[in-house]
Amino acid sequence: MLAIINAELVMKDHYIPEAYILLKDGKIFDYGLMKKVGDLSEYEVVDAKGAYVGPGLVDIHTHAGGGRWFYEDPEFASKFMLEHGTTTVLPTLYFNMPKEKLVEQVDIVRDALKGKEGSNFGGFYMETPYMNPKFGADRENNPWKGPVCKDDYQPLLDKAGEDARVWVLAPEREGIEQFVIDAKKANPNVRFSVGHSEATPQQIEELMPYGLCIGTHHTNATGTLEIYPECRGICVDEAVNYNTDIYAEIISDTIGIHVNPYNQRLIRRIKGDDKIVLISDACVFDGPIPPGDLYDGAIDILFDFEGEIAGSKLTLDQACRNFMKHTGASLVDLFKFASRNPAKAVGLNDRGEIRKGLKADLVVVDHKMNVQKVVVDGKVVVENN
Ligand SMILES: [Zn+2]
Repeated sequence: MLAIINAELVMKDHYIPEAYILLKDGKIFDYGLMKKVGDLSEYEVVDAKGAYVGPGLVDIHTHAGGGRWFYEDPEFASKFMLEHGTTTVLPTLYFNMPKEKLVEQVDIVRDALKGKEGSNFGGFYMETPYMNPKFGADRENNPWKGPVCKDDYQPLLDKAGEDARVWVLAPEREGIEQFVIDAKKANPNVRFSVGHSEATPQQIEELMPYGLCIGTHHTNATGTLEIYPECRGICVDEAVNYNTDIYAEIISDTIGIHVNPYNQRLIRRIKGDDKIVLISDACVFDGPIPPGDLYDGAIDILFDFEGEIAGSKLTLDQACRNFMKHTGASLVDLFKFASRNPAKAVGLNDRGEIRKGLKADLVVVDHKMNVQKVVVDGKVVVENN
């Protein structure tokens, strides 16, 4: 049993200063004002010394952590993310791998992380297999650019099973509806996300009844379907903005390359604070920074060997600091974007806010989301100071 005292609790829509919070049996048991705290003699007591305490961060989309792919070194990547406050992570497997490799990677990551004490594994985010090869880092060699084929995808659906929380897809791929139906058979609670795509809004909306509810790295790797020359067309970005039920993932890097700071503010205004999901989309590509000063100061993004942007080196705490800078978001807002909304987007309804009975995953942070302590299942697992 753990008690955190002298905390400023970050609730879903307000703060509770000078507060305590009690954790018992891996769940949030109680919280309140310090002046009303009861007998703590049976608790291990942590003094937050006035720091903020919010729900643990939830990163639904990251391929790597600390410069190592999840499928190469799952323990390292997972621990690195944990040290940055990510108490739930969805390791992300990518469409640049063929079927046999992906099946193998599911086993490697799951065996290393699932069910281990203090683990932050929250299932998989499958950014595979059926994207539009026009919009990705592997245009020429995409092993999944042929027809959507049950013989190819079924072994992957079977292997990932209920651990596959999200499948990213390009709704314009012919035959995608059958894939969606079969993915739901493998996991009735699965969600779908539109990504690496140039689908029409209609193609996207037709998949919403099946559970399409996320826009993968919104405004990145999406097309523009011009109908009339010199007039803005409609495509994925418009559909994600328009549909209030779709969550918008944002990669918020330091200088706003993935999503221009103005667009970050615009998306926030359009989507509202309940549908923004910050992600790290961390990878390990190490292509050279293209020449010129266009990418000056781009300390947390990555390039592939074709000179294209290919994910980031972000952690979610840094993404929060960036989004705070670009949009003026408060800590209350940031805990929505990096904990509550992502948990809801992938159906993890037992976490993402401070509420009695929810999973006791917490972070102790300063006013800029610098992580001081991390708590998983009611136990302190990281102490940075
Ligand atoms: Zn992607």
